[in-house]
Amino acid sequence: MLVIGAGYIGLELSTVYAALGTRVTIVEMMPGIMPGADRDLVRVFEKRVGPWFEEILTETTVKAVEERTGALHVTLSGKELENPEREFDTVLVTVGRKPSIEGIGLEKTGVRTTDKGYVAVNVGRQTDDTNLYAVGDITGPPQLAHKASHEARVAVEHALGRNAAFDPYAIPAVEYTDPEIAWCGLTETQAEEEGRDVAVASFPWQASGRAATMGRSEGLTKVVIDPETERVLGVGIAGTNAGELIPEATLAIEMSATAEDVARTIHPHPTLSETFMEAAEAFYGLSTHIYRPKRR
Ligand SMILES: Cc1cc2nc3c(=O)[nH]c(=O)nc-3n(C[C@H](O)[C@H](O)[C@H](O)COP(=O)(O)OP(=O)(O)OC[C@H]3O[C@@H](n4cnc5c(N)ncnc54)[C@H](O)[C@@H]3O)c2cc1C
Repeated sequence: MLVIGAGYIGLELSTVYAALGTRVTIVEMMPGIMPGADRDLVRVFEKRVGPWFEEILTETTVKAVEERTGALHVTLSGKELENPEREFDTVLVTVGRKPSIEGIGLEKTGVRTTDKGYVAVNVGRQTDDTNLYAVGDITGPPQLAHKASHEARVAVEHALGRNAAFDPYAIPAVEYTDPEIAWCGLTETQAEEEGRDVAVASFPWQASGRAATMGRSEGLTKVVIDPETERVLGVGIAGTNAGELIPEATLAIEMSATAEDVARTIHPHPTLSETFMEAAEAFYGLSTHIYRPKRR
């Protein structure tokens, strides 16, 4: 099977099919898989699951797919690609979602769309045509189910005249692979792109007793911190059950918690949730289970 796209959908489905015994090749046009996620988190996934795949071809695009007797003939384009002509039984396209807003008469309303083709809305999810609201994928990224349902609540409250706004500090994203990758708030990659000065403290799961007893010590929990205020700006987790751990981090960011707040919150032992506390402790050089001198 050829899977086009190494975003979360492509990687989730590639993992499922590979686990069932399908020989999977993944093609991704960006320099790395899981674009947007921090590379140290991605490495946790790559190390464990990477060998399951025939090949992961980055900086590669699909030029053509042609059906020939009994096979799909695929032409790839990418640098250092030895063999751009391949044959597959199946091709799974996991890229190219776009807003479906044609043919519903929007042009007869006051609704405005953005230059990227999304429906423009205000903080109450109200369009420029004030009787019309829009929520979910058509209002733009992140295109996630929990973002859509949260927006829907805000829209209903706003329409009822209540003082409601969609203005989150952090929206969690989870890749449901094994290990899971989850993050919320500011990523280290984003901070670098924006030239923003941040401190990053991390806790490797090799030092987590719970991860050891689960046989899943490959994980990593990291916290992105404002060096001046010590506020938690973002959290990334790679490891089993990362999706179950990320809401605590989301709450911390929404409540403007500092690294000290997290470090001083008593977490049950032995749990994977301690890795968040210990990453925050590591910022101060005070993690019980790893020696990390204070970095600032
Ligand atoms: C393979 C895949 C896996 C995903 N996994 C996750 C995940 O694990 N977690 C997560 O948070 N998100 C996930 N997503 C994204 C998530 O599905 C979307 O963000 C979410 O469904 C957006 O909700 P929505 O209401 O905006 O749009 P949709 O869920 O797409 O709902 C829009 C509905 O409107 C209908 N519709 C469209 N036009 C018309 C019309 N003219 N008249 C009547 N009905 C119409 C459509 O048929 C559709 O049912 C995944 C997406 C895909 C494709």
